[in-house]
Amino acid sequence: MMLNGKQIKHLTLPLWKAPIKYIAVQKRAEQQLKESRENFRVLAETVPQLVWVKRPDGLYKYTNQRWRDYTGLMLEQVQSGRWPCLQFIHPDDQEGHRAHWQHALDTGDMFEHKARLRNGQTGEYRWFLTRAMPVRDEAGQIVKWFGTNTDIEDQVRIEEALRQSQERANALMNSNIIGITIIEGEQIVDANDTFLRMTGYTREDLRAGNMNWRHMTPSEYLDRTFEAHQELATQQSLTPFEKEYVCQDGSRLPVLVGAVVLPHQPRQAIAFVLDNSARKELEQRKDTFLSMASHELRNPLAALKLQTSLLHRQLARQGTLEQAPALSSMETQINTLIRLVEDLLDVSKIQAGKLGYRQERVDLDALLHEVADTMQQIKATHTIVVRGATSCSLVGDKDRLGQVFTNLLSNAIKYSPQAETVEVEMDTAEDVVSVRVRDHGLGIPREQCEKIFERFYRVTSPRQKGIAGLGMGLYIVAKIVKHHKGTITVDSEVGKGSTFTVAFPKRRAV
Ligand code: ADP
Repeated sequence: MMLNGKQIKHLTLPLWKAPIKYIAVQKRAEQQLKESRENFRVLAETVPQLVWVKRPDGLYKYTNQRWRDYTGLMLEQVQSGRWPCLQFIHPDDQEGHRAHWQHALDTGDMFEHKARLRNGQTGEYRWFLTRAMPVRDEAGQIVKWFGTNTDIEDQVRIEEALRQSQERANALMNSNIIGITIIEGEQIVDANDTFLRMTGYTREDLRAGNMNWRHMTPSEYLDRTFEAHQELATQQSLTPFEKEYVCQDGSRLPVLVGAVVLPHQPRQAIAFVLDNSARKELEQRKDTFLSMASHELRNPLAALKLQTSLLHRQLARQGTLEQAPALSSMETQINTLIRLVEDLLDVSKIQAGKLGYRQERVDLDALLHEVADTMQQIKATHTIVVRGATSCSLVGDKDRLGQVFTNLLSNAIKYSPQAETVEVEMDTAEDVVSVRVRDHGLGIPREQCEKIFERFYRVTSPRQKGIAGLGMGLYIVAKIVKHHKGTITVDSEVGKGSTFTVAFPKRRAV
């Protein structure tokens, strides 16, 4: 027997033969043993693990209450059989468990294995880490194993969730569909192979710090890109937007880019980059088609208009104009067609950056009256009220500015079929001159108020859709206003009406 590391050999003497002092030593030793057993029991019952002691043949000598509660087994039920513990180990984990035990028994090494153990009450399995240490006698023989089962279900779940999310992220990262970059300031500090392939850069370029998004952005996209980075800084995320990258060989790549700030490294953001060239090419083809179609339509339409007006004059001269009522409706239809084709041409020119502007002095007050008068002659359904006009001049293109107000007035009338008036109001403040066109019509849903200035966008409500239009007018209007350094906004309420406000800075006034 060992006591505090010292061997006590004479304790095997019968008590009656032992001298008094040996009896005292033996008693002390027994007392200490009892205490140490009690300490072990208290410890084994206190720790949050399942605790057990096994004989070298695998049969249980001791299990703590927690073990019995979890497995639902009494000690007697695991004191016979070859591998009594297998009954509460998940079938898929039994083989591994057995192999690990065998190895531990053969080598005397510590046993360690993760397995699912069945809860005797619920029948559910939870992951446990089982650990066991051999205890040896003086001859070095294993006399028992002390073991614990630690519940690692939550840890395993977290690890599994992490593994899955890493797997998903890797699938995306390694796919050759989407470019991914990590940016810090203006520097691209990491990128996946797809992004490098898309832009023609190498991993060495990346390592050497040669990839800087500002240098890779063509000048015409710089403003928009800075705006995007501002959004990223304030909102922590960036709504996907279209731009181009200058590739390593100098070629351009149209892309769609979105990004989010990394939560644990706020100085860095992760961005996705999608190759947008197929869509851009399609758009380009559509634009080319629109431009060609509108050019092709313009000449025959002009000839048609010329011939109908010749016919008009001829019939008027003969005094038989009233007998040909179809002629005037033909002329109206031709004019509508010409306007549509003109709009199409304008849209194409804007797209190509070729919409020309004259620079001339424009009397805004006179222009508004002119537009309102012309419109009043064409559209007798509404009364056009012009208010607050004061003398004010701008430098710009008179026809194009006229086009802005004609369009707004024509929309105001078109989208207020039940109303009787539309109003035009001019207002000059110290540094801006603004013109408001107000109607009392259908109104525009709030969430679509920005979109109506996009190319070919039309409000989706059925009443609006019932009114003919192609969604080009406001796009052209917005571009013309922008060219004149002005702004256009809309204030609208569905069922009540809309007010479009165009404002020009006075510094353009002469
Ligand atoms: P459209 O040829 O369709 O009128 P616009 O570009 O002029 O094209 O206008 C875009 C869309 O905005 C219209 O389809 C319409 O839905 C909406 N809209 C424009 N002006 C008004 C208005 N005054 N009241 C209500 N909706 C309007």
